[in-house]
Amino acid sequence: MSEVESTLRLAVVGAGPVGLALALHAAQALPQARITVFDARSAQHDVAGDMRTLALSLGSVQLLERLGAWNAAAAEPILEVHVSQQPPTWSPLTGLGSRDSALRIRAADERVPMLGAVLRYGGIVAPLQSAWLARCAREPQRLRSNFGAAVEALKSTDDGVEVVAGDAERFDIAVVAEGGVFAEQARKSIRHDYRQTAWVGQVGWSPDATPPRGVAYERFTRHGPAALLPLPPEGGVSRAALVWCVPHADDPVRELSDAQRVAVLNTVFHADTGRIDSVSPLKNFPLGLNAERRLVDRRTVRIGNAAQTLHPVAGQGLNLGLRDAFELVQLLARTTDPDVALRRLERHRTPDRWAMIAATDFLARSFTWQLPGAGTARGLGLAALQAFAPAKSLLARQMMFGSR
Ligand SMILES: Cc1cc2nc3c(=O)[nH]c(=O)nc-3n(C[C@H](O)[C@H](O)[C@H](O)COP(=O)(O)OP(=O)(O)OC[C@H]3O[C@@H](n4cnc5c(N)ncnc54)[C@H](O)[C@@H]3O)c2cc1C
Repeated sequence: MSEVESTLRLAVVGAGPVGLALALHAAQALPQARITVFDARSAQHDVAGDMRTLALSLGSVQLLERLGAWNAAAAEPILEVHVSQQPPTWSPLTGLGSRDSALRIRAADERVPMLGAVLRYGGIVAPLQSAWLARCAREPQRLRSNFGAAVEALKSTDDGVEVVAGDAERFDIAVVAEGGVFAEQARKSIRHDYRQTAWVGQVGWSPDATPPRGVAYERFTRHGPAALLPLPPEGGVSRAALVWCVPHADDPVRELSDAQRVAVLNTVFHADTGRIDSVSPLKNFPLGLNAERRLVDRRTVRIGNAAQTLHPVAGQGLNLGLRDAFELVQLLARTTDPDVALRRLERHRTPDRWAMIAATDFLARSFTWQLPGAGTARGLGLAALQAFAPAKSLLARQMMFGSR
């Protein structure tokens, strides 16, 4: 057993999916460490009320399975991802015109059972929370939950951090996983407001024009990206989760009735997508990039949305946060000095974090560029990826497992 492991007192600030995954993994991998999880919300708060439906990569599904916190029954596997751009676009087969080129990534081609899975925010947090609470009940001498306790301050000391949540308590390391969405977060060192709004909710497919099960559609339009993520059918109706990004200042969605939204959505998506015939009430999230340059400040480390909040265009925010959590625990398990583990974390997470931050930032901005030739270049990029299998496979691996 390492020295760190035998003495470590770890505070986890935030019991969202990232903080809970970290706490559970640390409880398994560091069997002597004392771990306390703080969250501002009460343990009884119903997280199912969060309207977000998230696409988790295969790597994240596997991590949650290892933690015993994967609810397969609540998830819909993603078997294919279909990416296209709204016309006019350019295809090497058809030239410039209304027929668009599409990139199709299939689980079968990548020889994996699924590319990822779709489920509600609550469907991720609830099993993590019950697994964590069950573990706390089994090992109360070293694992503690402090729900309904907002952390008010973190004070660095010579060899640790004082966590103030009502009372002050000293820990060796404080992991900040306080998350949040762009509109509600304090400014971090890198911040860009995309001036876009994501409208999220659900659509129902017309019974006579339902797309194949398990296909996720990503559509780039000059207003912003839109996505339809497959959901399990409900009451015999095939459904998908909608993430529809539009400019904040000239919002074409806000004032529309449901019937008008359905009509517009059927023009936004690719002709092969199927026909939408209903839409739920939609909730909106302002979108921006808000990221820290560094994860570690002395013995305080930030992970998940507390470290980087991204545009949801590639559905990567939580996936990246879970990888932050897992890497931190792996490093703590391998060294005798917390400072060494934290220094390594900064270095190890750099390629994955910055590749994802740069990729989502580029996608969020570039598909709205109105420059002459930009649409053609984007169509060409999609067609080239579709035609060149090794590059497509590389992209698929990056989306499933991050940079490693
Ligand atoms: C519209 C939209 C769509 C998205 N789609 C995807 C997707 O498809 N795939 C994907 O991977 N990601 C997606 N994301 C991103 C994803 O939602 C976030 O990356 C993820 O929820 C971050 O998890 P977290 O645990 O870091 O933070 P959170 O989920 O925000 O949890 C933070 C927790 O910390 C607690 N807390 C806050 N402050 C304090 C405090 N002071 N003291 C104690 N506790 C505190 C909160 O109560 C909360 O429980 C999307 C985001 C949006 C907005």
